[in-house]
Order: sequence, then structure tokens, then C-alpha cells
Amino acid sequence: MKALSLLGSTGSIGAQTLDVVRGLNAAGAEPCTVAVLAAHSNVPLLERQAREFRPQAVTLFDPAAAKDFKDRTRDLSIPVFSGIEGLCRAAAWETADVVLNAVVGMVGLRPTLAALGAKKPVALANKETLVAGGELVTRAARENHVPLLPVDSEHSAIFQCLRGNECSQVKRLLLTASGGPFFGKTREELANVTPEMALRHPNWSMGAKVTIDSATMMNKGLEVMEARWLFDLPVEKIQVVVHRESIVHSMVEYADNGVIAQLGAPDMRLPIQYALTYPNRLPCPAPELDLFQVGSLSFFPPDTEAFPCLSIAVEALRRGGLAPAAVNAANEQAVAAFLQGRIGFLEIPELAAGAAARQPDCSGADSLDAVLEADRAARQYVETQLNGR
Ligand code: NDP
Ligand code: MG
Repeated sequence: MKALSLLGSTGSIGAQTLDVVRGLNAAGAEPCTVAVLAAHSNVPLLERQAREFRPQAVTLFDPAAAKDFKDRTRDLSIPVFSGIEGLCRAAAWETADVVLNAVVGMVGLRPTLAALGAKKPVALANKETLVAGGELVTRAARENHVPLLPVDSEHSAIFQCLRGNECSQVKRLLLTASGGPFFGKTREELANVTPEMALRHPNWSMGAKVTIDSATMMNKGLEVMEARWLFDLPVEKIQVVVHRESIVHSMVEYADNGVIAQLGAPDMRLPIQYALTYPNRLPCPAPELDLFQVGSLSFFPPDTEAFPCLSIAVEALRRGGLAPAAVNAANEQAVAAFLQGRIGFLEIPELAAGAAARQPDCSGADSLDAVLEADRAARQYVETQLNGR
């Protein structure tokens, strides 16, 4: 019986993780209990989840929501925590065997470090953790001898394609990208797109932030950084391939020019389950892949002219140090501002590039304080730009 600490349980990945847990328990092959559930402020959904899964504790980041939850669930007598301390406590929960981090944004970094410090394997959906703190996080995993298991579908695919092969014989990672809702559009055509249009992803149903990141292709830039840290490969060995159908989830090319791909229906429950049951492969709620219905698969080079976020992220990774943390933080702020209707779509890359250019010190990414300071400075830069208009 595996006990799970689930951070971000009320989100898209969180809810699908609980669906996977239901499936594993129904099949009985690898039953799973839920030790802790954590969210930001969605009290009604967290209450429903707590009544179904009976965790030993819950955390709500927002203190008022934590109090509300406590008032509504007196009959359950579950300890309720809040704030970043509560989130880190949930991540290091003593009886948890694995932590699935599915919170959105840089706020996931400290809980990831807390989980690794407590020697818990971390199934990581929260890519911002690796983008901003890749050096810190991979070092903590190494030092504590615990694995980082990818949940992001592309990274799970690469992880699966690497099994049984030598990393030293990898020539390239081929990271697939759907191209998002604006594939084929020119820069001019993107100037007036609205949040509503950007939130309509053709293949995946996801949280708002990652959906906007997919529309700008910043998501793929963040995923290049994620791949660099998860698989310890230089940026030159990571190639982005636009693949509209989201059936090939990524590929690995080896020294002999053999390419191994992982395919499946676009459904996150497969990579989530693989991270929880690895190295076992068990029946999963994700649907079967019907290749006859798919018919054909297409592949294109990315258009970095219309979607500069990809190049901005790759360039930050090349510079190294704290530049990726700056890009990540500025992007988080810019995406929030776009969703609030405060800025246009094309201002997202402008703000991310501006914050990266202002990040002077490109060493220091091995210190949590330095990463947090780079994050703060980039957010402040974005706010100053927004307020000065
Ligand atoms: P959602 O926006 O759907 O959910 C975010 C979750 O994080 C919610 O449970 C939210 O709680 C919680 N949360 C947000 N802030 C905090 C905080 N400060 N403290 C505690 N919990 C917090 O996001 P997704 O599920 O789409 O994405 C989660 C992560 O997974 C992201 O990093 C994303 O890039 C990555 N990912 C997502 C994919 C997807 O298909 N959705 C695919 C691949 C990666 P509340 O509901 O209370 O606000
Ligand atoms: Mg992905």
C-alpha cells in the first residue's frame, strides 16, 4: 500500500491523480492511500476530496480558506495547515511514500525541496520548480538518494524511451509540442488574441496558466529547461518538434540514429500513473490509442518568429545561472496580467525577455535565497512596467 501526499489536489493534474488513485484501488494491483491533500483556496472541492479519501491532514495555502475548511469539516477531525509552512509540512509528511507536486508556479519549489530533504520520491508536474531551481532540486535528489519522477507528458515519454538504454548513447531528445491554438498564425495575427481564444487548447484540458503557456509556446521553453535538468543533457541536445496531433508524446534519438517514441491518447492520467507505479505498467483510466482513427501524424519545426517565448527560454537556459528563474517569474506575472486583460498577448514575451535582460548575475542558482531574490526582482520588474503605462 503506497501513501501519497498530493500537492495541488484541486487542480487539473490533482483531480486526474485522484482518478488514477481510484482506478488503482479498484483494480487492487497497487492500492494507494492519500496521506495529505493540499490546495490554495478551493474549499468546496477539497472538502469533497477529503470526505472521499480521508487524508491524515490537509493544507490550504490561504489562511482564511484553511479556517473555513476547518469550520465545515469539524466532524472529520482532520488537522488543517496553511501558508508555505503548511505546504512544506505536507510535502515532508512522515507517512507519505511519494509526493506528487501538482501546484502551479514557483511556489512549488520549497515544497519540492522539503520532500526531497525528507527522502521522499517526488513525482513532479510542477515544472516551474525545475525551471527556477533545477540545480538545487537535482542536487537535493542526488544527495538524498531519491528519484524525481516526471509527470509532464513529454518528460514521462522521454523517461519511458530511455528505459533499457544508456544515457551516454543519446544523440538528441525530440520534445514534441502541439503548437497550441494559434499554430500557423503570424505575429501580426497574434496581436489581438484574447484570453478566451488563448484558453481554447485543441488537444489538452489543463489549468489556465499552462494553457496560456501553451498558446505562447513558453510552455515548450519551460519544458526544454525541465528536460535539461531531469535528463542532465545540454540544451544543444534538445530539439523541439511541433506535432499537431499530440499522439507522439516525445522521442529519443540514439547514436545509431534509431529513434524511440512513446505514443498514447492525449490524456495525463497515463504519465501520472506511470510516475506512481514505476517501474510497473498497470491498467489505466486513460483511453486506448486508436491509430486508425488518428490516421496520420505530422511534424513541423517551431516558428520562433511568431512564438518568441521559446527562444527567450532557450536563450536563458544557455546563459544559465538565474536567467531561467527570471524568465519564469516574469512569465508567471505576465500570464496573470494577460488573463486579467491588463496586457496584450505579445507583451508576454516582451516582459519575459526584459526581465531576463535585467538579471545581471548569472551565477548563484545553487542558492535558494538567490533564486528567490531573482524571482522577486523579475516580478517587481513586470509590476513596474505595468504600472508605468
Ligand atoms: P491548475 O491551475 O488546474 O491547478 C493548480 C493547483 O495548484 C490547484 O490545486 C491550486 O489550488 C493549487 N495551488 C495554486 N497555488 C497554490 C499555493 N500557493 N499553495 C498550494 N496550492 C496551490 O494547474 P494544473 O493542474 O493545470 O497544473 C499544475 C502543474 O502541472 C503546473 O506546473 C503545470 O505546468 C503542470 N502541468 C499540467 C498539465 C495539465 O495537463 N494540466 C500537463 C503538464 C504539466 P486551488 O484550486 O485551491 O487554487
Ligand atoms: Mg507537457
